[in-house]
Amino acid sequence: MGRIPEQVVAEIRERADIVQFVGRYVTLRRSGSRYWGLCPFHGEKTASFQVNEDKQIFYCFGCGAGGDVFAFRMRQEGLDFPDAVRALGRELGIAIPEAGAGENQAAAAHRANDAACAFFRSELRGPNGGAARQYLAERGVTEDLVDRFQIGFAPAGWDGLVSHLRRASVPLADAEAAGLVARRQTGDGHYDRFRSRVVFPITDPSGQIAGFGGRAMGDDTPKYLNSPESPVYKKSRVLFGLAQALDAIRQSGRVIVVEGYFDLLALHRAGLHEAVAPCGTALTQTHAHRIRRYAEEVVLLFDGDAAGQAASERALPVLLAEGLRVRAAFLPLGDDPDTLLAKSGVAALRSCVDSAVPLLDHLIERALKDAAGHAWAAADAARSLAPYLRAIGDPVERAAYVRQLSSQLEIPPAALDEALRQGAGTAHAVSTPSPARAGATARGVEAAAGRAARELEPAVRGLVAALAAHADLAPLFDELDPAWVAPGPGRDLLLRLLDASRAHGRAGVATLLTADSEPLPEDQRSLLLQLSAEPGLDDPRAARRSVSDCIATLEIAALDRQKQQLDARLKSCTDVAQLDALTLEIQRIVTRKHELRKSQSHL
Ligand SMILES: [Zn+2]
Repeated sequence: MGRIPEQVVAEIRERADIVQFVGRYVTLRRSGSRYWGLCPFHGEKTASFQVNEDKQIFYCFGCGAGGDVFAFRMRQEGLDFPDAVRALGRELGIAIPEAGAGENQAAAAHRANDAACAFFRSELRGPNGGAARQYLAERGVTEDLVDRFQIGFAPAGWDGLVSHLRRASVPLADAEAAGLVARRQTGDGHYDRFRSRVVFPITDPSGQIAGFGGRAMGDDTPKYLNSPESPVYKKSRVLFGLAQALDAIRQSGRVIVVEGYFDLLALHRAGLHEAVAPCGTALTQTHAHRIRRYAEEVVLLFDGDAAGQAASERALPVLLAEGLRVRAAFLPLGDDPDTLLAKSGVAALRSCVDSAVPLLDHLIERALKDAAGHAWAAADAARSLAPYLRAIGDPVERAAYVRQLSSQLEIPPAALDEALRQGAGTAHAVSTPSPARAGATARGVEAAAGRAARELEPAVRGLVAALAAHADLAPLFDELDPAWVAPGPGRDLLLRLLDASRAHGRAGVATLLTADSEPLPEDQRSLLLQLSAEPGLDDPRAARRSVSDCIATLEIAALDRQKQQLDARLKSCTDVAQLDALTLEIQRIVTRKHELRKSQSHL
């Protein structure tokens, strides 16, 4: 059974009226552009279930269920996503083309990718590739690795690849569908998407090229640019290095997950060939499922800082749900595999990986330490561990953990079990089309979602809320440099929503919530639902002001950080010329901050 083309899904979503459809099951009362009723998914006496006609989504403030018209149908009628789409399509008289078309598209995209890969590789070897060759050599990437990973170079011009594809008789429409080239905004023709970048082909497990990741050579932004979603490239599915890792994974029985291309290459240099890296996203359920096909154990090798810790904790429930054993190794603070290898050699990197500790036990130990001696602290510990325990796919293993923890916290197992069940809302079952997953993970992530919402910077929260309410504000975001936003689910969500708003306008939120090909991670999904449902930004002028205000706030914070660094350098600076330059730069920052503050006060 083939995938349903996205245009067809979009057409059905556009034609289906969610208010009318939900109205078949729930008595709805209108208030502005929203409708309220009793939630059909949990028992309640006062209405906390909302349908937003404008955005064509529903959300329950009580149990967190939410999504678009397909999600409602899946939930209400127990259908999976394709069946929900087909059922609605039939009712609306919209024909759904079945398989066939998709396979041709995939073949065409693979052909275009192969041609591009050949071009990038020859450019790396040719006269344009000098700086790239030097860059790779400086980062310790040997020629053997360049060959094994088919690393290439995309030259600086705008049409090097376009011309090559023309000569190779690859239709530019196919290259566009594969995300290699983009159509010019004005006039005819296409231009190269990857320019002035070292390019890594990202293959599927069989070695076919699904897409590319490009690392900027200088200070160009973004530092990393990946292929957009295409018939063959799905960010939530691809793992860089998997094809090259398969033999080693089979031998060692484990997969090492790292954060980036160069981390992975460093591991190869240390003889650790079983490494993979997600491309521009956190680990998804689909990744975990794929990993589970090859191995039983995962070692997460992340940075030793708070962000690395948080990333590993986010990945844990996702991996546990697939029945994987999860260990975590943390690099010495300030090191990545690359620098550790350079500084301390192969043995140091290998021993870091080999000393990885079981992550769940590590988190339990930490929670127990915090809980020592207090009754309320034991409850806190149970709560903080609940998402992970709930995520454990194997009931026997889960029971063992519950028994162990209940004795350590001195809480009866039944009480602990009860606490686990209570925290488990039904919020995300809607978005978990595969009944096999049984919602355990989905529910486990709920606590993480709540945490993410609380930890979100108010400015980021404001931007997501305003954009969710008014997709037409997207152009204002040209003023925003993503580097001003701390990495994390908030930033990921904001950037995804921005793309979706630009591509789909008002249907952006609903499209993103469905995003069948590249589902939003659970925490971002519930964040988006929450923020979309909150009232307060209905007035477009207020929303516009809020966007300008939030962007200014983020820039000011970025300037503050920059100024702190410069101040510190100024203190230790003895060189007169450099002193002048630093002072000048600080002056510039102060002036810019002043401008921003003034513009904020006029909003
Ligand atoms: Zn509900």
